Amino acid sequence: MQTNLFIGEYQRDDGNHPALREREHMHQYAAAKCLKCGLCLEVCPNYVGGKTFFGAVFANDCYLVSARNKTKAKEMKKLYGEHFGKTCSKALSCMDVCPMHIPTLASMAKLND
Ligand code: SF4
Repeated sequence: MQTNLFIGEYQRDDGNHPALREREHMHQYAAAKCLKCGLCLEVCPNYVGGKTFFGAVFANDCYLVSARNKTKAKEMKKLYGEHFGKTCSKALSCMDVCPMHIPTLASMAKLND
């Protein structure tokens, strides 16, 4: 199984150190590769038609919006919690099947920060 986690991915940072900024940009680039193919939804044991739980594709989009737009960050984290965070059981099947090898676990860690 291939994952795109980077050493130190979970390190707290204020976003000002150049190396940390570069790592943040690398993760934004990885998350932005999402094809919206829906494979992560097909394999997720918690996804039942998108009624309340929106799956990994939503979690990565929440991360991207909150990382790029600080005024939306609080709102996105709230939506993330309602529609992903509180229901995800961390089966991480989404990461196994993702054709773009998106490190959803890292997006989750950043939104739970
Ligand atoms: S499997 Fe990967 S590329 Fe496809 S929708 Fe899910 S996160 Fe996006």
